[in-house]
Amino acid sequence: MTKKALITGLTGQDGSYLAELLLEKGYQVFGLVRRSSTSNLERISHLFDKIKIVSGDLLDQCSLMDVITETQPSEIYNLASQSYVPLSWTQPALTAEYTAIGVSRLLESIRRCRPDAKFYQASSSEVFGQPDESPQSERTAFRPRNPYGVAKAYAHWMTVNYRQQYNLYACCGITYTHESPRRGTEFVFRKITRTAAMIKLGLAKELKLGNLDARRDWCYAKDAVHAMWMMLQQEQPDDFIIASGETHSVRDLVECAFNYVDLNWQDYVVVDPAFYRPDEPVQLVGCIYKIKAELSWKPQYSFKQLVELMVDHDLQELRGKESHVEGALVST
Ligand code: GDP
Repeated sequence: MTKKALITGLTGQDGSYLAELLLEKGYQVFGLVRRSSTSNLERISHLFDKIKIVSGDLLDQCSLMDVITETQPSEIYNLASQSYVPLSWTQPALTAEYTAIGVSRLLESIRRCRPDAKFYQASSSEVFGQPDESPQSERTAFRPRNPYGVAKAYAHWMTVNYRQQYNLYACCGITYTHESPRRGTEFVFRKITRTAAMIKLGLAKELKLGNLDARRDWCYAKDAVHAMWMMLQQEQPDDFIIASGETHSVRDLVECAFNYVDLNWQDYVVVDPAFYRPDEPVQLVGCIYKIKAELSWKPQYSFKQLVELMVDHDLQELRGKESHVEGALVST
């Protein structure tokens, strides 16, 4: 029998990769989309004829119950949230509505309408905020430092509580930064690969960056969604860290991207205080011992491979568009 999956946050980076993975595996895929996000469908436009878009909103309990009743999914992946950290400070209540209470509504809808469905909640390393230890594991205490992290911590514990109280197959994947060619250039990884490609093609002259010593645990979004799917294929639900397990600095990233296009990064990178962050969090890095041991998951792409595939993508995309972007500079 064909398996059915419902994805919230279908229009985002992870939603689009997860939909592709599930389609490859023969699932019927339903994507929950808010009316207001219908103008934002470019990441999934190539999937329109293969997935079914259903209308609903994490702010509206009835819409969630209707969608779950109608589609009867065996797997539900909650990848939707208000995920932009600066906005979580200017709109903390709305962030809580989507990112925290939205998960309550979803869990309650599953409990009432489809209690045997398996549920994946997208937790985030932001729950650790200022952690007591590094690397962080599934046992590290949550010390979130922004409203987004607080909302994700609530959603995490509600998912765990519904598992314990109602015996739902509900689990949380705590993901760290994950990147892909579908990331925006406001994030440093794509900004660097994109601008290195632009400089190589003569479309930009320099790359302005902030703190080159900042470090992140970066992994490929395709690897991350594969871990999400694996988490729902187990006998018992459980929570896992999903990360690369290693950190690299912005400097490593620049060096790797520019080396790949045979350029010396020092000739092009300009450090601009405008891109410095006043309050950099401590280094977050995931311990992936548990997911490796229990699910046999590990990233398939190394840091270098990820940088190179993104530069390749940007070179290819820019070559196709050279006449349109001539003279343009990445403005982030
Ligand atoms: P996030 O902070 O994990 O959401 O991801 P970003 O990609 O925005 O930033 C990653 C790190 O890169 C942060 O520690 C930034 O301080 C550092 N960084 C250095 N230069 C830049 C820059 O020009 N833009 C951005 N976005 N980050 C930069």
